[in-house]
Amino acid sequence: MSGFDFDLFTIGAGSGGIRASRRAAGFGARVAVAEQRFLGGTCVNIGCIPKKLFSYAAHFKKDLEDARGYGWTSDQLTFDWHTLLEGKNREIERLNGVYGNLLNQSGVELINGRAKVTGPHTVEVGGRTFTSRYILVATGSSPTVPEIEGAEYCITSDDAFFLEKLPERVVVVGGGYIAVEFASIFNGLGVDTTVVYRGDRLLKSFDADLGNFLAEQMTKRGVHFRFNSEIRKIERDGTGWNCVTSGNARLSYDTVLYATGRRPNTSGLGLESVGVTLAPDGAIVVDDAFQTAEPSIYAVGDVIRRMQLTPVALAEGMLVADRLFNGGAEYMDYSGIPTAIFSHPNVGTVGLSEEQAIARGYKIDVYRSVFTPLKHTVSASGDKVLLKLIVDSNSDRVLGVHMVGDDAGELLQGFAVAIKCKATKAQFDATVGIHPTIAEEFVTMRTKVGA
Ligand code: NDP
Repeated sequence: MSGFDFDLFTIGAGSGGIRASRRAAGFGARVAVAEQRFLGGTCVNIGCIPKKLFSYAAHFKKDLEDARGYGWTSDQLTFDWHTLLEGKNREIERLNGVYGNLLNQSGVELINGRAKVTGPHTVEVGGRTFTSRYILVATGSSPTVPEIEGAEYCITSDDAFFLEKLPERVVVVGGGYIAVEFASIFNGLGVDTTVVYRGDRLLKSFDADLGNFLAEQMTKRGVHFRFNSEIRKIERDGTGWNCVTSGNARLSYDTVLYATGRRPNTSGLGLESVGVTLAPDGAIVVDDAFQTAEPSIYAVGDVIRRMQLTPVALAEGMLVADRLFNGGAEYMDYSGIPTAIFSHPNVGTVGLSEEQAIARGYKIDVYRSVFTPLKHTVSASGDKVLLKLIVDSNSDRVLGVHMVGDDAGELLQGFAVAIKCKATKAQFDATVGIHPTIAEEFVTMRTKVGA
């Protein structure tokens, strides 16, 4: 096909990189992927997968408490952190092996080591130089911590998966995805958990009802919140830490977890030397085809910082492979991408929030329902769910579906299909519900908010 060693050289064997590489190899391209750390990237090793396993672990205590109302007793309940870590590590090792086999079976050559771009068609790994017609950068992102005094004492989500012992008192800084997920995990495992957030509402980029309702529900489950508060410095205090807040409160904790966003992994990759443009936050600037300013170099996933979600990186990787090796001409559609936050309770959302719909000039009808699900009538836990629909009053099209409640992550996937198909409220109403479920409420909401 060319005088190069490879047709595609991918840097980073995470979700986007592996998917693009395998797909390209499937089209007959000669493909190599360089990886310096672990197969499967953040998602498999220090992200979605171990987080979800921890999230399951943390939910059992609540499930057992709920079971009391149904007649079960569980007085001898104990939790062993090391059993969880070992189970999690076993599953991740298994997945690392699966990814290795998948690459092998697809004919993709795996090159272990840190790669550096040395030219538009050359990559160096461990002193060896490889040439490739195209280079794909899929190096992901890493947690960022603001520069405060004592920042070196805090941990990030990367570390939280390997703690030697379960902390007794944790402060979690941030109000986004990782903060609420880890606060729920620690709280569920019995850790005294406080969230310190500089804003006044969790999940600021989502529909306002979601963050407010989530904070209420998490508070009921025992999480403490300090809104409009920032940590100014962290000081050693015996075996733990003192966090000094903007209001000069001193909070004493044994673990401080920062969940304040993720920075694209672009430093030291040699990208500046080949004319690839980086945004001020370090993200690689690409066009709609994921091509950088250097025509032979492409980038996908967290490193381009469009939506830092695994399924988005997978989709972007597939589009690049199709375009380069299969004559594909499709562009990524970033609208209607569903997402779930695996806090306790879950948050699930797809489409526009009420605020976004208004900002885009839609005249909208809002349907909102808060109720006690059947399961929690007898459990007497007091748990409630929130369901919300945003509808375009002119076209009747459903613009957004939002939920806070158990299994929102599972439930929203189907509604994402409806949003993709541009379903109308009349079609939601014409759909027969499944009884008795929480989700049936989405097809039986008839009263507009304020009507
Ligand atoms: P997010 O962007 O979701 O949240 C970052 C939080 O940190 C925000 O509340 C932000 O506040 C706050 N923050 C930012 N800078 C500072 C600062 N200097 N001091 C104090 N607070 C600060 O990032 P995460 O780290 O939680 O997650 C990164 C990304 O990873 C997510 O955006 C998501 O794309 C992905 N992810 C997806 C998951 C899933 O699909 N379930 C799970 C985990 C992560 P403010 O709101 O005021 O800006």
